Amino acid sequence: LNGATITAGSIDGLVQYMPLCMRHLHTTLRRDKHLKHFGRYQYNLFLKGIGLSVEESLIFWRQSFSLMTDDQFTKEYRYNIRHAYGLQGTGRNYKPLSCQQILTERAPTAGQAHGCPYRHFSVDNLIASLNAAGIHDRDLLKGVKTDVEATKFHIACNRVFEHAHARELKKESETGSARFKETIIHPNEYFTRSFMLRN
Ligand code: SF4
Repeated sequence: LNGATITAGSIDGLVQYMPLCMRHLHTTLRRDKHLKHFGRYQYNLFLKGIGLSVEESLIFWRQSFSLMTDDQFTKEYRYNIRHAYGLQGTGRNYKPLSCQQILTERAPTAGQAHGCPYRHFSVDNLIASLNAAGIHDRDLLKGVKTDVEATKFHIACNRVFEHAHARELKKESETGSARFKETIIHPNEYFTRSFMLRN
């Protein structure tokens, strides 16, 4: 990110650039001091994709799971975190999940925080989450509702992105320097664009 090193301590400050799926995982992690397996899987790979090293990732998760002992963390969680970086087991270097994967694989059940809020939340919960992220515009929320009802989940997400970055996108298009024309289809792309537009 513009040459900046991402550390465990940077993550809270980077939530503002994240799409709703990752914001929800982060908020749940901070609230519960824990995330269930697929939530860890989805968020860990996302964080790896934005440039968090395996060393910093281990620090991040260890500090975040603040209710457990070092011993428990090492026994139950360290392996999976390193595994996602290709450092355990078969050594496969896993890629961050795309919207398509998040939308169609492993729908969350009660108590799980992974998935895509546009697809897996009730409309009321989705609106409450958008409100909590500072999004209150009535027309926008109406548009999101319509998209979701038409099962155009990632279109709803793009609509929110465009609203949240309206000023920056307008500035770019006025100066003829618009960089992003394609629809966002990956959470890491959402993050990168948001970060680039605001920094
Ligand atoms: Fe995340 Fe993609 Fe859903 Fe947006 S559409 S919240 S980036 S999974």
